[in-house]
Amino acid sequence: MAVYTNILLAVDFTPAMHAVTRQATELSRTFKARLSMVHVVEFVPMDLSNDLVLPQEMEIDLELVETATQRLQALAEKLGVDKTACYVSQGSTRREIIHLARERDIDLIVVGSHGREGIQRLLGSTANAVLHGAPCDVLAIRIKDD
Ligand code: AMP
Repeated sequence: MAVYTNILLAVDFTPAMHAVTRQATELSRTFKARLSMVHVVEFVPMDLSNDLVLPQEMEIDLELVETATQRLQALAEKLGVDKTACYVSQGSTRREIIHLARERDIDLIVVGSHGREGIQRLLGSTANAVLHGAPCDVLAIRIKDD
């Protein structure tokens, strides 16, 4: 069995994250691995008709990053995760998670997975997207959608 030393947990702040978070922290304890956490703020332009980024959009983005940073640090404190191992990125969730994994020599990425079916499956999921570009192992924790 592989021994992981550097685990990255992808956090989306949904209520379903608790189960995923629990697994990641348990794994990091078991392997005595460093646990890092990432949240990605996806850029959503308000005006889809042009590529110009308006100042108010930049302000909203900064606010989202600030809020996410505070939430991630609060979660880190609760879990006993080193605050310097918390990352908030902006951009595509898949790309940012993969980029961070490469940059930080991550050997296991932990994400939640909804196990979607039908059209939702065709549209893809973050877990699926990350799995296809990751430089390391990916653990998808099944989220039970009630
Ligand atoms: P999804 O397929 O978008 O429902 O997300 C499944 C999993 O991907 C979540 O449980 C998280 O682990 C991860 N994830 C989704 N969105 C984000 C995000 N914005 N930042 C970091 N991780 C995310």
